[in-house]
Amino acid sequence: MPQEHSSPMPWLGRDIRQARKEGPDGLAARQRARLADAVARARTHSPYYRELYRHLPRRVDDVTLLPATDKTQLMARFDDWATDRDVTYDRIHAFVDDPDMIGQPFLGKYMVATTSGTSGRRGLFVLDDRYMDVGAAHTSQALATWLGPTGILRTVAHGGRFAQLVATEGHYAGYSGYRRAMRQGGWRSKILRAFSVHTPMPELVAQLNAFRPSVVIGYTSTVMLLTAEREAGRLHIEPTLIQPAGETMTTADTDRIAAAFGTTVRTVYGATECTYLSYSCAEGWYHVNSDWAVVEPVDADLRPTPPGEYSHSVLVTNLANRVQPFLRYDLGDSVLQRPYPCPCGSTLPAIRVQGRAGDILTFPTETGDEVRLSPLALSTLFDRTPGVELFQIEQTAPTALRVRLRVSEGADPDTVWQAVQRELELLSADNKLGHLTLERAPEPPQQAPGGKFRTVIPLP
Ligand SMILES: [Zn+2]
Repeated sequence: MPQEHSSPMPWLGRDIRQARKEGPDGLAARQRARLADAVARARTHSPYYRELYRHLPRRVDDVTLLPATDKTQLMARFDDWATDRDVTYDRIHAFVDDPDMIGQPFLGKYMVATTSGTSGRRGLFVLDDRYMDVGAAHTSQALATWLGPTGILRTVAHGGRFAQLVATEGHYAGYSGYRRAMRQGGWRSKILRAFSVHTPMPELVAQLNAFRPSVVIGYTSTVMLLTAEREAGRLHIEPTLIQPAGETMTTADTDRIAAAFGTTVRTVYGATECTYLSYSCAEGWYHVNSDWAVVEPVDADLRPTPPGEYSHSVLVTNLANRVQPFLRYDLGDSVLQRPYPCPCGSTLPAIRVQGRAGDILTFPTETGDEVRLSPLALSTLFDRTPGVELFQIEQTAPTALRVRLRVSEGADPDTVWQAVQRELELLSADNKLGHLTLERAPEPPQQAPGGKFRTVIPLP
């Protein structure tokens, strides 16, 4: 394996390509070596991990030996978690509360990202250059794979401009990464432009029409709204690739975007804790970048879930970030690992994602049992209901749901509501939940502070 030096980019890209050429053995060898290094560094420099790993053997290159951790535990031990003693909760807090610091480096060297906390607690994350470089190298690799040689030529011929749809009013990973690329200069800063997801739609459409991007990257809900603008004939861009991210999508969503723009749609499954975790392929699977990340589907007792079954949760290990190590970190999503090689030919492990276990709705039946509805069951229901542009369903009491709708242009809100109501009543009846009450909200779906639309909100 090549040695790292101060400018890791040239060897990183080469090594990522080489690992994929070598296949499972080459990927596993890199993963083991990087894990042993990450564990050793965490034990040396992080009081939290030193304590957590005190009973482990001296060298650990098997991830399953490590005790798991999660956001609640790490946030509770914030100052002890970091491997840099200058990273403290008080300093970070003062930093993120200052709007002038958005996109600026913390302590002159780290990126900061907050998560709006769909799972309850706000996350404060410190990301180092190594993580940012590994992420950027994986993005380049994914773009090359997605576009192929012809696609790259077409993208360049189109001007090669990238539009990034981001939340610009807070410390979020997308915008922090953008600001970092701008500060660094070079080719990235010349082709990238950020667009705020909070821009009023007619204005955003006008800005994108003027910019004429070749690649559009951004939040799923904003991409869906832009798809509607395209269908209505107002958005004239012709990107060679659209990459929605940050929220769970259905196949119907990606098909609709692909049809509206007549282009390739590829998605990313990751989190601020590991942005480069996995990228989708033409077969609709997410391929895990297993040379730099470990993904373990697990049951409620954190035992491995066999391939082919949906897990209760997933443990993720980020092998790049050293300042705040994420090792066997419980991300809370339900995933399924593909048991056989993917027809797309990728040598990387392939997974599917069902969505956050935290977004599953739980209801009592009239006989005292419990029924659970997955976010996917609801999103597919709304997908097949004509006239629904965007939906949000909130559980306001154990057996009450409040439904917020944004209706497509030209559709009659009352007709759409009646169709939604009928579908939800059928779904309820099928699940022995005939006693559920449905409430039609006058307000549209509400955006979380990070710019995401959380489609399903269970009772707290
Ligand atoms: Zn594949």
